[in-house]
Order: sequence, then structure tokens, then C-alpha cells
Amino acid sequence: MSETIFSKIIKREIPASILYEDDLALAFRDVNPQAPVHFLVIPKKPIVKLSEATIEDQALLGHLLLVASKVAAQEGLTGFRLVTNNGEEAGQTVFHLHIHVLGDRSFTWPPG
Ligand code: AMP
Repeated sequence: MSETIFSKIIKREIPASILYEDDLALAFRDVNPQAPVHFLVIPKKPIVKLSEATIEDQALLGHLLLVASKVAAQEGLTGFRLVTNNGEEAGQTVFHLHIHVLGDRSFTWPPG
């Protein structure tokens, strides 16, 4: 996999507003927020997209959800929305798996 901007954020080669970090995951604010609170949760392992994750990644994927919830609470959110775009046709632009966490506004359904 070619290096993405998120690998550079993990390595601190480019700046980001980091909210949480552990051995497996990083959470940082989205540079182009779509809600008053909008951050991304990524694995440090460079998985291209969800559909390329394997059974070996099962615990890691669960961990990312728990990090999303923990950081959402840290940000004062009770209701929030998680979004993962898988592939170009779904709107994925950075090919390093990430979960968008959006909050502090109301959301419509179905999503656009
Ligand atoms: P997606 O379109 O689902 O692949 O989401 C990629 C997200 O990464 C977009 O919401 C971008 O605003 C965000 N993004 C791109 N570059 C950066 C960056 N350097 N720091 C923080 N967020 C970024």
C-alpha cells in the first residue's frame, strides 16, 4: 500500500489535532469538519479499507469502535454518528481505514 496522509499523521510528519492515541489507534480532528465535532479514528495498521480487513483484524476493529465512543464522551457527545466510506464510489478519499465521528448537531436519515 502506498503511504497516505494518515500514515504521515501517525509518524508526526504532518501536524494534526490529536485527541487520543494508544498502541493500536489514533483519533484526530477532521481538517474539513462536517459537524461542530468531527474527528477520525484510525488504526495504526495501514488497512486500506474495511473490506480489506480480515479475521486477524477482528479485535482491532472492535477496539476502534470503543475508541470512537470513548473520545465522543471526552468531547461531551451523547448522540453521535459514525460513518465509514468504503471505496471510491462510497466517497472514500483517503485509503487508510477510518471511522468518522460526527456530533453536536442533528442528523437526517437516510444519509446523503
Ligand atoms: P473519506 O472521504 O471518508 O476518505 O474521509 C477522509 C477525511 O479525511 C475527510 O473528511 C478529510 O477532510 C480528512 N482529512 C484529509 N486530510 C486530513 C488531514 N491532514 N488532517 C485531518 N483530516 C484530514
